[in-house]
Amino acid sequence: MQIEDYVKAGKIAAEVRELVRVKDWIGKTVYEICEQVEGEIKKRGAKCAFPVNTSINEVAAHYTAEPNDQITIKDTDLVKIDLGAQINGYIADTAVTVCYDAQFDGLVQAAEEALSNAMSMVKTGVKASDIGRTIETTIKQMGFKPIANLSGHSLGQYTIHAGKSIPNIWSIGGFSLSENSAYACEPFVTTGQGGGFVRNGQIKNIFAINSRKKTKNAEADKLLDFIWENFNMLPFALRWITKEWEEKRARELLGILIKKKAVQAYPILIEVNEQRVAQAEHTFIPNENGVTVTTIAQ
Ligand code: MN
Ligand code: MN
Repeated sequence: MQIEDYVKAGKIAAEVRELVRVKDWIGKTVYEICEQVEGEIKKRGAKCAFPVNTSINEVAAHYTAEPNDQITIKDTDLVKIDLGAQINGYIADTAVTVCYDAQFDGLVQAAEEALSNAMSMVKTGVKASDIGRTIETTIKQMGFKPIANLSGHSLGQYTIHAGKSIPNIWSIGGFSLSENSAYACEPFVTTGQGGGFVRNGQIKNIFAINSRKKTKNAEADKLLDFIWENFNMLPFALRWITKEWEEKRARELLGILIKKKAVQAYPILIEVNEQRVAQAEHTFIPNENGVTVTTIAQ
C-alpha cells in the first residue's frame, strides 16, 4: 500500500542519514561516499530513488560522483549528503550537512532549525507560503540567508518533483498541503555574504528519462530500455550504467540520448556569490491525525 511503502522507505532513508551524519568522511572520495551510502540503502531492502548527492561548499545541490571520482573530502569542507530511498516508487527524500570546521556550525544549525520549525507546523491545509515564511524567518533570525530559488516539492510514485513547490522564503500565492500527499521540505542556507540564489554550473552528472521515443540508434535505444527498466522516470548516474556498458561507450550513448532529448541532464547548482551552503531535508505526509514525518530518526 502506498502510505506503508512511503513509511518503509522513510525509515530506511532516516537510518542511513543518521549513519551518514555521525561518520567521519574526511579523506574519503565522493565516489566512496556515494557507493557506500547507496549500499546502505539497498542493504535495507529499498532501491535508491536517485544517485546520492555529495555537494561540497558553494555547490548547493545536484552533484553526484562520476565513476571513480577522486574528489576527496577535506576537514574544511561542508558537504550536503542528500539521499533517497524508494519502495515500489514511493520515495523518501532526506538530506544532512556534514561539516568538521566549527566556523560553519551555525550554517548547519540554521538549516536544521528551519526544517524543525517547518515540521512543527505542517498538517493538512497549511499554506506552502506560510512554511516558506517560517523557514525564512528562522534562518534570518540566526543571521543567515535562505536560498530563494531552491524549494521543497510534492512527491509522486516514481516522481521526485510532482509539480508543487514548498518555498524557502515567503511568497505570494501557492497551494495548501493535501491530506495523504507526500512532500519534501528542504531549507538551504547560505552566509550573510551569499546572494541567496543558485545558478546552474557547467557540470552535469545526474540524468533522467525525458521521453521513451526511439532514437534510431539500436544501442542507444537498448540503453534507454535499460534505464527505463531499472530507474523508471527517476534520476540516475553514469556510475549506474557502467556495469553493463564500458564507461567511454556509456558516455557516448548517453550523449546521443541527451541530444535526442530522450534523456535530460541536470546541472549542478552553485551559490551565486560562491558562499557555502547548508541543507537539511525531510519527507512528510499530512494525515487525519496531523502529520507523519517519514524520515524522522527513530
Ligand atoms: Mn533531497
Ligand atoms: Mn528533495
